[in-house]
Amino acid sequence: MITDSFKHKGLRKSLVEELKSKGITDKKVLEAIGNIPRHIFLDSSLDNIAYQDKALPIGCAQTISQPYTVAFQTQLLELKPNEKVLEIGTGSGYQTSVLCEMGVRVFTIERHKPLYVRAKSVLELMKYKPKCYFGDGYKGLPAYAPFDKIIITCGAETIPGELVSQLKVGGILVVPIGLDSQIMYKITKNKEVELTTQEFGNFKFVPMLQDKES
Ligand code: SAH
Repeated sequence: MITDSFKHKGLRKSLVEELKSKGITDKKVLEAIGNIPRHIFLDSSLDNIAYQDKALPIGCAQTISQPYTVAFQTQLLELKPNEKVLEIGTGSGYQTSVLCEMGVRVFTIERHKPLYVRAKSVLELMKYKPKCYFGDGYKGLPAYAPFDKIIITCGAETIPGELVSQLKVGGILVVPIGLDSQIMYKITKNKEVELTTQEFGNFKFVPMLQDKES
């Protein structure tokens, strides 16, 4: 069951104001974050801090991204309704739900089985309809490629070539690159063999790892 109290709604409103004050301008992104009960994606013991602008533990030594980071990455994607979007790192499913709320068709991959199972069931409970996969995000989903947009929610050492090849011409890939801390990159595929790369400051993510864990 989903319990979304007045208190949660109030805290969420304040979070949206905080994100605006930190420079998030995309109205649809702010609206999505204002609509989605983030606490549902977390353990109930974190209920009181679910609307702080912080990354929080979700099990398997992973974290739900900080709301500012979710908003920033989503804003960089420049989403249009019905686009086909691939997310690498389902984690809690929170970023997935923000994408769904923005009216795009979402495919998401997670390498930790318990997180995949939990996120899938929370997303179903919330009536979102992304396609969830348990697997290695480095491989992408060739059967459903090409994608309009790709978002990677874990830190990659280098730009994953296989994922670039699954991006449409004109598409955007948003990926944090780096080992200990990351720089956010927006990569636009101008032509089949031509990429434009823009950098957007420092962030901190859990690492993007090869292969899946059961
Ligand atoms: N979008 C998530 C963020 C979770 S943290 C959320 O909103 O909660 C990043 C996630 O990426 C972790 O769950 C981690 O297990 C996953 N991950 C890391 N490497 C991966 C890979 N190669 N393929 C799929 N998922 C991966």
